[in-house]
Amino acid sequence: MFANLSDRLTSTFKGLRGKGRLTEADIDGTIREIRRALLDADVAVPVVRTFTGNIRERALGAEVSGALNPGEQVVKIVNEELISILGGESRPLRHAKTGPTVIMLAGLQGAGKTTLAGKLAHHLKGQGQTPLLVAADLQRPNAVNQLQVVGERAGVPVFAPEPGVTREGERQRGNPVKVAKKAMKEAEQRQHSVVIVDTAGRLGVDAELMKQAADIRKAVEPDEVLFVIDSMIGQDAVATATAFQEGVDFTGVVLTKLDGDTRGGAALSVREVTGRPILFASTGEKLDDFEVFHPDRMAGRILD
Ligand code: GDP
Repeated sequence: MFANLSDRLTSTFKGLRGKGRLTEADIDGTIREIRRALLDADVAVPVVRTFTGNIRERALGAEVSGALNPGEQVVKIVNEELISILGGESRPLRHAKTGPTVIMLAGLQGAGKTTLAGKLAHHLKGQGQTPLLVAADLQRPNAVNQLQVVGERAGVPVFAPEPGVTREGERQRGNPVKVAKKAMKEAEQRQHSVVIVDTAGRLGVDAELMKQAADIRKAVEPDEVLFVIDSMIGQDAVATATAFQEGVDFTGVVLTKLDGDTRGGAALSVREVTGRPILFASTGEKLDDFEVFHPDRMAGRILD
């Protein structure tokens, strides 16, 4: 995770080690290298600009006195700015004041929504909650089964429509908005404390998908709409996140596949570009490969 970016930043900082005083030229050289490392890691251009601008300003004005030498001071500033673009403080999941807490998942197909639904259910169950998983992804033929498998693994019930038969004789699973509404009734009757609604994704952003997600959002009035994004998506992260922000107005972000050979761009861009906090990270295919997102720990890993 972030291996290349980490290496690049570390070697940039090595060049500063042992310098008694940093000149403006030293700082500009360092900023240039940081900028290149971030761009190569697919971090969005406006984010790189803000980030490096802040570092330059702070490094130039940094106090020379104190316990840290100038090189260490630059590392400290970069660390603080990384934490800042990752969101500063971690933001806990919002729970409903009365009735079940409703969490809706949205994102592109293959982002890791269904896998995440199981992990989140498992995590919340571990906190004493009684989640219900809802299969409102009726687009992909296998999605409902996949959620059922995930639910079984997590030991959490899944609300899924019975397959019906259309006039043409095709098997059909019905309307996701209706399924979501029915699931809400079921959750109230059975007193589930949390409802996690998995929705359909497409390979690319499209208007129909967005409308469906927006309709489900209206129907279930979620406490959280979590935009699930594959960290490997690279430069597409910004356009995808922006489209989902306009389409469903998500309240938080989940980064998936952080275990992969991710360059880091999506992770480092999405908070700054959308203004929405990253709540969780998914780091593998197993139920436990899941963590609450802490900006300071993530920055620490990048600068490790
Ligand atoms: P969905 O289409 O958004 O519901 O995505 P899925 O949950 O079906 O995930 C797509 C693929 O990515 C599956 O093969 C998952 O096993 C895999 N996957 C999901 N999350 C992670 C993760 O954090 N790390 C890795 N390595 N694979 C993941």
